[in-house]
Amino acid sequence: MAENVEWTTRQVEVMRDNAHLGVEGVRRALKDACGIERTRDSIKMYASRNRISLRVQTRCPACGAPNVRLNKLTGLCRRCNYERNIEQQKVYSQMLEDERRLAEEAEDLDDMRRTYDMMRQRNSRFRRKHGLQTRKRDVKT
Ligand SMILES: [Zn+2]
Repeated sequence: MAENVEWTTRQVEVMRDNAHLGVEGVRRALKDACGIERTRDSIKMYASRNRISLRVQTRCPACGAPNVRLNKLTGLCRRCNYERNIEQQKVYSQMLEDERRLAEEAEDLDDMRRTYDMMRQRNSRFRRKHGLQTRKRDVKT
């Protein structure tokens, strides 16, 4: 029976890591991580002997801070939430800067201007050669 089986170092570690989830959380964690089924009484007894609190605490899933209010949308504490938001804003800012650079400074813009000038001149020569009037849409834009 599991009751009489010694607690291994690994089991104690799993218990400490999951103590904030309460007795049931520890029981499930022991089963998942160590494959051992301890009773609730066994867990409570070991916890009390080793001064491990099994009081259920809210913890931030990212940083592990105990007893913190978690953001309803992200499930993170305030600090982790800010860190996440700042990171997102940095990415967004970089994206905007990349778009601006592409629109104003990209190397292919000179090629595009040369192509445009060439086409305009070609059309202009064509009009002169065939005596065509300059139409509004042919005017340099
Ligand atoms: Zn956090």
